[in-house]
Amino acid sequence: MDYDLNEEQRMWQKAVHDFVAAEVRPFAREADETGEFNWKAVRKMGPLGLLGLNIPEEYGGPGIDAVSAAIAIEELGWGCGSMALAIAAHNGLGSTPIVLYGSEEQKKKWLPLISSGENKLGSLALTEPGAGSDLQGGVSTKAVKDGDEWVINGTKMWCTNASIAEYIISLVRTDPSGGSRSLSMILVPTDTPGISIGPAEKKMGLHGSPTHAVTYEDVRVPLDTLLGKEGQGLQQTLATLDGGRIGIGAISVGLAQAAFEYATNYARERYAFGGPIADLQAIQWMLAEMATNIEVARTMLYKAAWLKEQKRPYTMESAMAKMFATEMAEKVCRDAIQVHGGYGYSREYPVERLYRDARLMTIGEGTSEIQRLVIARQVLKMEF
Ligand SMILES: Cc1cc2nc3c(=O)[nH]c(=O)nc-3n(C[C@H](O)[C@H](O)[C@H](O)COP(=O)(O)OP(=O)(O)OC[C@H]3O[C@@H](n4cnc5c(N)ncnc54)[C@H](O)[C@@H]3O)c2cc1C
Repeated sequence: MDYDLNEEQRMWQKAVHDFVAAEVRPFAREADETGEFNWKAVRKMGPLGLLGLNIPEEYGGPGIDAVSAAIAIEELGWGCGSMALAIAAHNGLGSTPIVLYGSEEQKKKWLPLISSGENKLGSLALTEPGAGSDLQGGVSTKAVKDGDEWVINGTKMWCTNASIAEYIISLVRTDPSGGSRSLSMILVPTDTPGISIGPAEKKMGLHGSPTHAVTYEDVRVPLDTLLGKEGQGLQQTLATLDGGRIGIGAISVGLAQAAFEYATNYARERYAFGGPIADLQAIQWMLAEMATNIEVARTMLYKAAWLKEQKRPYTMESAMAKMFATEMAEKVCRDAIQVHGGYGYSREYPVERLYRDARLMTIGEGTSEIQRLVIARQVLKMEF
């Protein structure tokens, strides 16, 4: 849908692309190999607006539309999967619940702080050792009122950015009787006594994006750290994930675009049977399918973002875009390795890293199976 971008969106795309090409992409391999988080680039993202993609201008955001926000994450995905995940989680998960449900004081306190690039980032902890897809039934981290404080106990799992975050928005059970009104979101600053952030998880890919277990042991925070209304946590989570899924879809399109570009360039340069392998129809078909599927995913993604911007329902479209884009990226990265032959399997070539990074995308922020469930629920409401 490039042809549909307006002038402002095009300029934004170019600015982000140029920034990523200069400050992020050259360090992607190093981030993968060392697991170091690229703070140097993040410091420069604040002034550019990349740390406040969903934040209104009055609280420090760049005041861009949802399609432009998706474009930014896509460009980051093109440059470095790890950085894209950290920034997508910061924006889509770590700041969105405050934008949507925070009080005026909470917005003023936290949003300018986390979008400036001078401080740490935001994070959201939903998943637990025993609860991922089934948050309603599975979340066991509890928050109990004691005077003017919440006392939180429990363990969260797979929290992106926990070690580089100012706070962890934590999904907790505030009503032990269960049900869809028994969860709440509480913002817990990471320097609160009783919080322990585990070592970085050893993952298949995305090594430059820190992921941690988080333990809460009698963590005490004031009652007004609750986001929105008590008992609304599940509904707040689902709405947050609608937007977050556009972010994961955008990373996937960016990863696929990068893999496609590497594969196309390699095919032009690699010779076999007396000519470049780009002359072989088998290779051309792979490249043609990659280009087509990337285009479809990007179009779906921008449409979901556009619906979000219009404040129209977009649950189904964001689930469709996430499911298609993430599965597409895995296949494109797989085929990019195939085009590279043996070299594709080597760490010397970036397609190997892209393939490992892409693998997470069909799992995080709702697995492909859960996306199908979300889509099917909407489909079955349709009248024909
Ligand atoms: C690198 C990384 C970063 C992450 N970052 C975060 C983060 O920042 N914050 C956070 O809260 N979480 C995060 N997660 C967690 C992630 O969102 C969960 O792993 C994901 O939602 C799946 O949950 P689970 O791992 O518990 O799998 P489970 O829910 O146990 O699922 C296991 C399998 O069963 C399938 N399944 C489950 N229920 C159904 C069903 N009803 N129908 C069909 N199939 C089903 C699933 O699709 C999957 O294939 C991260 C995970 C990783 C790996």
